[in-house]
Amino acid sequence: MPSMTNRFMGIALEEARAAGARGEVPVGAVLVMDGTVIASAGNRTRAENDVTAHAEVAVIREAAGKLGQERLTGADLYVTLEPCTLCAAAISFARIRRLYYGAEDPKGGAVDNGVRFFAQPTCHHAPDVYSGISGVEAAEILKEFFAERR
Ligand SMILES: [Zn+2]
Repeated sequence: MPSMTNRFMGIALEEARAAGARGEVPVGAVLVMDGTVIASAGNRTRAENDVTAHAEVAVIREAAGKLGQERLTGADLYVTLEPCTLCAAAISFARIRRLYYGAEDPKGGAVDNGVRFFAQPTCHHAPDVYSGISGVEAAEILKEFFAERR
């Protein structure tokens, strides 16, 4: 269902913009279960002084807390940027069913770039991956953020 995909990624893009407005690297994520948004968040590494407070980890933590379960089997995760190694591992451990991401990240990504975490024999659960969802818009938000900082 492309329209649902766009709607959920739209929420992730809003979270990315809000993160940028707070001075955080503008990446946003949404966790969906049975067509319902369970959690949405942007990066919070600066606000929380926590290098692991990436948007993906934030929504996994929040959703697991809300649902009262460690694993999020059947959940779909939408994120504006290709997940890094840390987040790819968290996505795998959480048993996320599908991963939808926006822009590729050749410098820090770990799904289609870098270590390609889900393709390794040490990875015991890999989600179905859909890339390039609103990728141009997601990349533009990041580009503008870093251009303003120069
Ligand atoms: Zn990450």
